[in-house]
Amino acid sequence: MKQQSVHIIGAGLAGCEAAWQLAQRGVAVCLHDMKPHKFSPAHQNANFAELVCSNSLRSDDYEHNAVGLMHQEMRLLHSLIMQCADATKVPAGGALAVDRNLFARQITEKLTLHPLIEIIHEEQITFPDDNDCMYIIATGPLTSNTLAQAIIEKIGGQSLSFFDAIAPVVYKDSVDFNKAWYQSRYDKGDKYDYINCPLNKEQYYAFVEALLTAEKTEFHDWEEVHYFDGCLPIEVMAERGKDTLLFGPMKPVGLTNPNSFEKPYAVVQLRQDNQEDTLRNLVGFQTKMKHGAQQRVLTMIPGLENARFARFGGSLMFALPDKLPVVRDISRVLPSGYCVVISRLVTFWGILPFSLLGQRHSALCSLI
Ligand SMILES: Cc1cc2nc3c(=O)[nH]c(=O)nc-3n(C[C@H](O)[C@H](O)[C@H](O)COP(=O)(O)OP(=O)(O)OC[C@H]3O[C@@H](n4cnc5c(N)ncnc54)[C@H](O)[C@@H]3O)c2cc1C
Repeated sequence: MKQQSVHIIGAGLAGCEAAWQLAQRGVAVCLHDMKPHKFSPAHQNANFAELVCSNSLRSDDYEHNAVGLMHQEMRLLHSLIMQCADATKVPAGGALAVDRNLFARQITEKLTLHPLIEIIHEEQITFPDDNDCMYIIATGPLTSNTLAQAIIEKIGGQSLSFFDAIAPVVYKDSVDFNKAWYQSRYDKGDKYDYINCPLNKEQYYAFVEALLTAEKTEFHDWEEVHYFDGCLPIEVMAERGKDTLLFGPMKPVGLTNPNSFEKPYAVVQLRQDNQEDTLRNLVGFQTKMKHGAQQRVLTMIPGLENARFARFGGSLMFALPDKLPVVRDISRVLPSGYCVVISRLVTFWGILPFSLLGQRHSALCSLI
């Protein structure tokens, strides 16, 4: 290892961008990731910056949306994530969505070829305690167990968990276009960006009933479940009220069914998931239903009766502090020279315009 390098543990979105920004400023970086020797329960791709669930980086509208504005600011800062997202984007209306495999491959190539970045494929199993080095811990919500345990011990926290889920992906050629149709909400963007599957009132409530009674992955009694409210599994939304989904991922606004010329009661949208447009993900449909239940319940959606699933949804426990105050406290207990980056994509941008090197005590933490 280079003594003067900044060591970044975790080559996810946060670690990759941090490595790039430092290296572009002439700082040598050792970027450590346990892949491909070891994968978290959600990661599958040997490349870095893997998007495990939605392939969308949310709105790209910099005039009306805060996330879009941050995208634009990151472009001005020559963000690696933004360069590669723009180069590998797939149609998604007003959102910025990417072909996740191409995106990860491009980022990995750029980092691997950078003369100031050394890639080290190994799992970090202890909390690094070399006071002569600077570290960024960017191992994300699925930090491997041993390191998560070491972080808990270091910060004296009680717990490091909350729960989230992955949305399913179907093959586009298995969607029935006699029922489904192409249209972007409010006709923003290209009409082919989204496929819409309509439900009438009766179908919607039958679907909600099936969701509520479907077999789900159960957690242990001792696992207190803390979901991220912006990314709830659909069945959890349904448990909060039978109409909740109508104001969430199944909201029917801004769409008219050209097959019936009716306003649908509820809609499931499918967004392009790869550049060839052979795969479509069910937008906002993260779920912890068991696979058999997903096959049964999701094929109740008109247009998806014969859907073939390229990937089923799933649920996972995240290794993240469950309460924000715990995260904020990290800066007080960490030895100098550490920077802990615990991020989600949506606020991950907050860490980017960083002045890390001048702030040896900084803890750049973001949740949600
Ligand atoms: C099931 C699931 C669904 C999600 N859905 C969404 C979503 O729809 N939208 C959204 O914005 N965010 C979602 N997230 C959160 C998502 O993880 C973050 O948005 C984003 O990936 C965080 O980036 P990161 O760089 O912090 O972590 P990651 O992208 O997870 O990268 C962490 C990296 O660290 C490596 N690593 C872990 N432990 C070690 C170790 N001990 N030593 C070395 N390397 C290690 C991993 O291999 C990985 O490459 C989801 C997460 C999960 C798990």
